[in-house]
Amino acid sequence: MTVIIRNGAARHAGVKAFLAKPRMRHMIGGGWCDASDGATLPATDPANGDTLALLAQGTADDAGRAVAAARAAFEGGSWRDMTPSARGKLLWRIADLIERHADELAELETLDQGKSLKTSRFAEIPASAEQFRYFAGFSTKILGTTIPTSISYQPVGSKIFAYTVREPIGVVAAITPWNSPLLIASMKLAPALAAGCTIVLKPAEETSLTALRLGELMIEAGLPDGVVNIVTGLGETVGAALAADSDVDKVAFTGSTEVGKMILSAARGNLKKLTLELGGKSPAIIMPDADMGLAIPGVARGIFANAGQVCVAGSRVYAHRSIYDRLAEGLAEEARKLRLGHGLDPDTDLGPLVNGTQAARVAFYVGDGASSGAEIIAGGRRFDNFFEPTVVTGVRPDMRMMREEIFGPVVAVTPFDDVAEAISLANDSPYGLAASVWTRDLSTAHRLAARIRSGTVWINCHSYFSPELPKGGHKQSGWGYENGAPGLENYLETKTVCAVI
Ligand code: NAD
Repeated sequence: MTVIIRNGAARHAGVKAFLAKPRMRHMIGGGWCDASDGATLPATDPANGDTLALLAQGTADDAGRAVAAARAAFEGGSWRDMTPSARGKLLWRIADLIERHADELAELETLDQGKSLKTSRFAEIPASAEQFRYFAGFSTKILGTTIPTSISYQPVGSKIFAYTVREPIGVVAAITPWNSPLLIASMKLAPALAAGCTIVLKPAEETSLTALRLGELMIEAGLPDGVVNIVTGLGETVGAALAADSDVDKVAFTGSTEVGKMILSAARGNLKKLTLELGGKSPAIIMPDADMGLAIPGVARGIFANAGQVCVAGSRVYAHRSIYDRLAEGLAEEARKLRLGHGLDPDTDLGPLVNGTQAARVAFYVGDGASSGAEIIAGGRRFDNFFEPTVVTGVRPDMRMMREEIFGPVVAVTPFDDVAEAISLANDSPYGLAASVWTRDLSTAHRLAARIRSGTVWINCHSYFSPELPKGGHKQSGWGYENGAPGLENYLETKTVCAVI
């Protein structure tokens, strides 16, 4: 297989204008500023290594300034005291602007992250706008309750009037990964804003460009100064400073389980609230009666989409022995069909991995599996930052490629003989993010769904997301849920008011 890199240059006038800036800056307090020490870090196109822009390489001091701006905006009340209707309208305007600039944002995302333009333009950018639309509606529906009490010592002749109010949690640090940059940032910004919080967003250092462009659009939408602040830079400096800052009330983190645990330790100081959306090693179980015409392409999409850089990627496939050969060969055929190339090339199905480190990581796991006895039946080769969609058989449960998250286009296919074995294999992981079950039998499907330990179970599909479907991890895949009503809860606290009247 050869990887053809063509059509790699920006074409959209908006992208050209955005990238023409001498350097990108932090957005703090409604204005734009350089890193406190003037340092920069390159944003590169992962397909060909071209430098797209220079980002401000933030310092701990920059993180502190952004937190102070978010705190001032929160205490000033320009956002949380705005009428819920006005807040909702503003979120709706942000969604409108994302949609109006969808071509531009999609091209920028593809250049910066590598994913195919089809994925950016028709999946992730529209889904980002949908986050703001969905949570815009919640702004006017944040409700408390009145509570009849049975307190025995109320003064004679008086009554007790008790009620709860829901209040924004305060200043939120949102720390996001590189695999779906604008979408994951939107999944935090939209509910936090609907709740009335103020935010410091730290996008991944590999993919910060669409977050900065979104910052410009938010200013254009009329967001008051300091309500959203964006600080770019490295996780170990900016991210760590935010996680430790005692003026941050909550960290909303999406990323690896390893960094999630670091954030947990750093958050101890002021007992910050946390949501942790972490790694996965998601199983797909294919029952003997599965519709193979649906299952083979569906399972292939479930692992190969975005070159496997998806937290819920179905990287462990368990197929009933009676259909195992057909399934494994079918997945191999799907893998061989996929075309690798620059994400902007309309013929590209799979772009590169986000950088050389990630490509080397994928190559390591595949090499380790092969040297421990696994058989590669499709793919297996690296070309710079690209990695072929790869299907591997004979992977034992104890092998590293079966236990650890690869975050690349690599799937292990394993046979099973009965339902109990399928459940036991699926649950044999420290992760519990998602799973899929493929069968025509409704009872089997729902019984399996009940037994699999994961935050989401799909039946006859994989990686289906929408803002109204809560998403989160069991076991070491995280704490808390994003999306849906639980996604809003992340950013609210309850206050009880109890009055003698
Ligand atoms: P990562 O954990 O390396 O980095 C995520 C973010 O944390 C980045 O912004 C990074 O700069 C920052 N960071 C790094 N070190 C930090 C520190 N010490 N303190 C504070 N912040 C720090 O993850 P990644 O490599 O960018 O993304 C891939 C991972 O994200 C995978 O494990 C994937 O499964 C996970 N992910 C999970 C979900 C989900 O919803 N569960 C979604 C997407 C990605």
